[in-house]
Amino acid sequence: MLYYSLNKQSPTVDFKQATIAGQAPDKGLYFPATLPQLDKEFIEHIEQYSKEAIAFKVIKPYVGDSIPDEVLQGIVNETVNFDIPLVPITESISSLELFHGPTLAFKDIGARFMSRCLGHFLKGNHKKVTVLVATSGDTGGAVANGFYGVDGVEVVVLYPSGKVSAVQEAQITTLGKNIHALEVDGSFDDCQQMVKQAFTDTELTSQLFLTSANSINVARWLPQQFYYFFAYQQWKDKGHPPIISVPSGNFGNICAGILAHVSGLPVQHFIAACNANKVVPDYLLTQQYEPKPAVATISNAMDVGNPSNFVRVLEIFHQEFGSLKNVLSSYSITDAETKQAIKDVYQQHQYLLDPHGAVGYIALQRELAKHPGSKGMVLETAHPVKFNPAIMDILGENILAEKEAALLLDDHKQSIPMSNDYNSLKGILKEL
Ligand SMILES: *Cc1c(COP(=O)(O)O)cnc(C)c1O
Repeated sequence: MLYYSLNKQSPTVDFKQATIAGQAPDKGLYFPATLPQLDKEFIEHIEQYSKEAIAFKVIKPYVGDSIPDEVLQGIVNETVNFDIPLVPITESISSLELFHGPTLAFKDIGARFMSRCLGHFLKGNHKKVTVLVATSGDTGGAVANGFYGVDGVEVVVLYPSGKVSAVQEAQITTLGKNIHALEVDGSFDDCQQMVKQAFTDTELTSQLFLTSANSINVARWLPQQFYYFFAYQQWKDKGHPPIISVPSGNFGNICAGILAHVSGLPVQHFIAACNANKVVPDYLLTQQYEPKPAVATISNAMDVGNPSNFVRVLEIFHQEFGSLKNVLSSYSITDAETKQAIKDVYQQHQYLLDPHGAVGYIALQRELAKHPGSKGMVLETAHPVKFNPAIMDILGENILAEKEAALLLDDHKQSIPMSNDYNSLKGILKEL
């Protein structure tokens, strides 16, 4: 498989080159030159396949000859090595629980796959690689966990001090070994800014092999297709494919789902469930794409004002607005609606949604109201314990206290406090 840059100014590359580079030299996102088609036979008899076999079949065309089959199968087996159950909430709504991985969020899938691919590609490479990543919460833990103990790789995670939850902080700061947590006296945007500066600092990049592990990397984006197939495997009513609601921020997750659908996975419709950051819902109404600064919400992993992966969604549809609208709808949900949904669903159905899943739940309800008789699923992208105080506020009782305490038990926090100043970061990177 070859990948071209969406900015069309850089040469095409294979899977290995795209994974190592992350972004094309012209700053475009890489996109597969052809979209694989899965045979009908496979989809119709999907129950007969193991998760490992499905994942291999889905990813193999994208990897091509970059990784030998037996190595790729090993990588895939480790990537999907936890439960991904489809749990009914109501008669018409189920939850695809993507939070049973090591850091309790769906990003584990992409991060595990990517880190293992990179580890394979860098074997025998004598130059040490530094993975640099800024996080507002979930990405840092998933990436740190994915790369933990991988030989020849040092991981540096920048996170804003006091602005991530207790569980998220523990996931970044308690691993040790090759994982370095930089606790920045500043905001997420400050962290992101310093990371960007490091990548353009030629003095630094001439000394260090720096790479990023953000969600535009093809090795993080593409494996997210796996769980859409696992969901369909568990979907009972094969005659009526599901409406799938995806809590969306940077649009990597939903873009992978749409890719799976274009490759042959039956889906009735997709919903991009957004919070107050509503560039895409507005675009689908007006056909005007207008990026805005992000606004803070209680579903903060989706506080994105200019979703990086949306250009990939457009590319799947060859930039045709009509084709896109047939497959995708989008809703913007307020914090007040999100809190109400968490409360209602817990009281009426004894199911605890996290704030991101709750945004997806409401968006799905709205779409289902337009299509009586249809059924759907919401992707529950993180475990509620990761956002515990937010949920306690809503329910008035701390039903997750025990689970949170258990998760924080081994909490030997090791972080390097850092001022919001690029030269401090540079100094630390050179010392590693
Ligand atoms: C990252 C994240 C999202 C947004 O996913 P995108 O692929 O960026 O759209 C949603 N929910 C949670 C819990 C996340 O961590």
